[in-house]
Amino acid sequence: MNVIRLHSPVPRADIADLTSLDRKSVTNLVNELLAEGLVLEAGKRSTGKGRPLTLLEFDRTGHWTLGIALSGNDVVGELVDLYGNCVAMERIAYPLGAARADVLGATREVARRLKTSAGDRLGGTALAVPGILDLNTGVMRHSVNLPSLDGVDLRSELQDTLGSNFAFEESSRAKALAEKWFGLAKCEPDFVCIDVGPGVGAGIVQGRRVFSHGLGYVGEIGHVIIERDGRLCRCGHRGCLEAYVSDEALLRELNGQAPSREEGLEGLDPGNESIQRVLARAGYRLGFALSYLVNIVCPPLIVINGGLMRFREQVLPGIQRGLQEGALPECLERTRVAASPLVHAAALGAAACALSRLFEIEGHLYV
Ligand SMILES: [Zn+2]
Repeated sequence: MNVIRLHSPVPRADIADLTSLDRKSVTNLVNELLAEGLVLEAGKRSTGKGRPLTLLEFDRTGHWTLGIALSGNDVVGELVDLYGNCVAMERIAYPLGAARADVLGATREVARRLKTSAGDRLGGTALAVPGILDLNTGVMRHSVNLPSLDGVDLRSELQDTLGSNFAFEESSRAKALAEKWFGLAKCEPDFVCIDVGPGVGAGIVQGRRVFSHGLGYVGEIGHVIIERDGRLCRCGHRGCLEAYVSDEALLRELNGQAPSREEGLEGLDPGNESIQRVLARAGYRLGFALSYLVNIVCPPLIVINGGLMRFREQVLPGIQRGLQEGALPECLERTRVAASPLVHAAALGAAACALSRLFEIEGHLYV
């Protein structure tokens, strides 16, 4: 399945070479996939000698997965095919600090619309939520972005619409999954995905597996202290990265006061010089915090995602300066830093989470 996903259209002979399975086994396995309608024969490839080879690819019209992602101000759902191509998207916005009923109501409505579009083609559903989530029970322990969901049993609340078996993931880790399945890390087994927006989080991927203890307390790079006795962070400590580069911190720095609830980074003019200075400084601070990560983990790739990357041209040079100041050159020269090209990465990551049930067997990662 993964050879077809990554190499299609692909002939059976190439699948045999890439998997080291013998050709008879590949023929039998492909016959099963053809019978299930997951795979189609899609044209021929001339070999120059002998018979042309029949190419295989997934059926793009028959097997879809639904990923839904909640954020502080909206819910986005994406229906994707087996390659991760978006087939349909729905979004409903709500105000920051929205009441529990409004957030859950919007989530149900997005799910209902996309499930109607998918009909019997829907193969799985998953939800990505920002916050500290108990992945075993589906209970939200604490969400800074969605405070009305604190303590809510999301599985019980949403199973009427999402089905009893839907999967969960925390948003920053979901974005890492999106990079692994569909983004810059498709061919990179070890990488870190940094999410910079209302908060700052990290998804750490090692051997294609997202590092997690199942409790959701992993990757809190937003609370690495970059200034001793610095700004007060909402976690209670002083000088955390998040107190300098979160959306709210940047808007506060620009306005000299706390932003209103509706304000976001969307309206910032990157041509404005004072805004450029603030963005460059944010990049530098982010890079300096990432230098700890580079020195400890030395990831071959750091993908940066989230609202701040809307201003990647202003931010990326600062990140490099911060990294150069804090990281060992020997580690840094092995680490590539890139801005994510994905749109709606958290929803895509949720879809990947559901897809993984089809492509991965627990304990045996093939992707
Ligand atoms: Zn903090």
